[in-house]
Amino acid sequence: MSMEALKERIVREGQGIGRGVLKVDSFLNHQIDVAFLDEIGRALAERFAGCSVTKILTVESSGIPVACAVSRAMGYPPVVFAKKAAPNTMVEGVYSTDVKSFTKETVSTIRVSRKFLQPEDRILIIDDFLAYGESALGLTRLVRSAGADVTGIGVVIEKRFQGGSAKLKQAGFQVESLAVIRSITDGNIEFQ
Ligand code: 5GP
Repeated sequence: MSMEALKERIVREGQGIGRGVLKVDSFLNHQIDVAFLDEIGRALAERFAGCSVTKILTVESSGIPVACAVSRAMGYPPVVFAKKAAPNTMVEGVYSTDVKSFTKETVSTIRVSRKFLQPEDRILIIDDFLAYGESALGLTRLVRSAGADVTGIGVVIEKRFQGGSAKLKQAGFQVESLAVIRSITDGNIEFQ
């Protein structure tokens, strides 16, 4: 998939809300264009070719389809998604961390069962959006709690003006974004 195709789709179907939020409900976040999603998966997988990824980690719910698409393109490493709710089925040990959401102005705890992250794992973190980077940073903390390695962080859409990629790169992580947005003003989306 060319990056142009993704940008065109964002421009044609995306809805900028205020100065900070982008809605892509017609192909990624509500209705999913699966053929397009698989192209996205292949494009992200290419960015991390040769990284010997053993597992993909994301956070529910909108990261899951993207993570599965990347897995298909990488030869099916398992996808683990951190949970936002604490279901009573998660009785065994968990790694957990708190994540701030600037978009929703909330703090939530994300958790993953200890049995799905092992010290020998090489984890690729995948999400749909990168904004302030708190969600991705939270996922890196879960990986480190398990003593595993983060091979990189891949996202479909980065909103660069919110500073997440700078924060993550400063922390030493490889960050790859398929589309980078420079600004959203009055519904007008500008790319980097
Ligand atoms: P961050 O933690 O980087 O601030 O935000 C990333 C998370 O918030 C992603 O998991 C994503 O689901 C959600 N998010 C942040 N900004 C947007 C946005 O503009 N549109 C949508 N649909 N989700 C967003």
